[in-house]
Amino acid sequence: MNTPLPSPPSTGLPIGLLAELTHRCPLACPYCSNPVALEGRGTELSTYDWKRVFSQAAKLGVLQVHLSGGEPAARRDLVDLVAHCASVGLYTNLITSGIGVTEKLIQLLADAELDHIQLSIQDSDAESADKIAGYKGAFAKKQVIAGWIKENGFPLTVNAVMHRANITRSAGMVELAMSLGASRVEIAHTQYYGWALPNRAALMPSRAATEMAVADVEALRKRYAGAIIIDLVIPDYHATYPKACMGGWAKQFINVTPSGKVLPCHASETIPDLEFWNVKDYDLHTIWRSSPAFNAYRGTAWMAEPCRSCDRREIDYGGCRCQAFALTGAASATDPACIKSPSHALMTDIAVADSRPKTYTYIYRR
Ligand code: SF4
Ligand code: SF4
Repeated sequence: MNTPLPSPPSTGLPIGLLAELTHRCPLACPYCSNPVALEGRGTELSTYDWKRVFSQAAKLGVLQVHLSGGEPAARRDLVDLVAHCASVGLYTNLITSGIGVTEKLIQLLADAELDHIQLSIQDSDAESADKIAGYKGAFAKKQVIAGWIKENGFPLTVNAVMHRANITRSAGMVELAMSLGASRVEIAHTQYYGWALPNRAALMPSRAATEMAVADVEALRKRYAGAIIIDLVIPDYHATYPKACMGGWAKQFINVTPSGKVLPCHASETIPDLEFWNVKDYDLHTIWRSSPAFNAYRGTAWMAEPCRSCDRREIDYGGCRCQAFALTGAASATDPACIKSPSHALMTDIAVADSRPKTYTYIYRR
């Protein structure tokens, strides 16, 4: 490639790489963070290319690789990829729905020195869980798979995405995670990008229900202190300040899509006019330093007011660029989750309107 490289701003080292090995998945969650335009099997990187990416990541200073999807177990070369990551010194975390994972595969992953498994659970109520997943019997299968995970000695994190259908069951999620032998549970309120955005009116809980759920987590942390770690991903639409999305744009994380596009965050393709480079054309080090998409919102120099002069600008980095674009049409705007954003009232109004009780039909990810 002969494209002249822009001069790089000062960059730190990335600590994590999210490898979307495939977008294929047997489940159909209406909040799936994969893009609405899924990348097909025919576009997926080869085993050779993924191994090259992991070797480059290790050289670049990445410490942890999150093997994700879709469902990563849909890749026949998963064990081979894990073994390669281990051989170059990367810590590996498998992010799985569990569906399609066999006992034999878990044993092979243990032999390949996989470090950790994160299992998603849609609800602590079986019927509701299967409805959310769009897959009958998913809940029961996950209990069995969690057993294999523990029998093979893996540390286990349970991930539970919260929304209107399960918002009252934080305690049930934590207790289920404990019964499955998890040492950590992530109570993650839905982030409205990917498939969650078109499903927003079906997923949005009320402010009262959200506040109660957040208070529940605080109480659960006290009740189960020492027994399980409870992480909370806060709900943006009822927030006062935004999160530091991805720990800051192009500051800590790299996302590689199934076809090899390298993104600063998995939703960043929703922002038009960003130029993403591909691992087939550039090595990861060059992409990290010089890719136009990575440099577009790195640091704080791109900020306008009110972020530019705000004393939280190095704390939350202006929040989420994708959310700013989705709600205001300007990716460089202050995240509307922030109370100082001129569009904060718009976000609050959407939250109120979308959370009104109604019968809903999910748009399933297919
Ligand atoms: S969120 Fe659901 S549909 Fe999306 S990849 Fe995970 S398990 Fe599959
Ligand atoms: S104005 Fe910008 S930097 Fe300040 S809190 Fe809001 S989003 Fe964060």
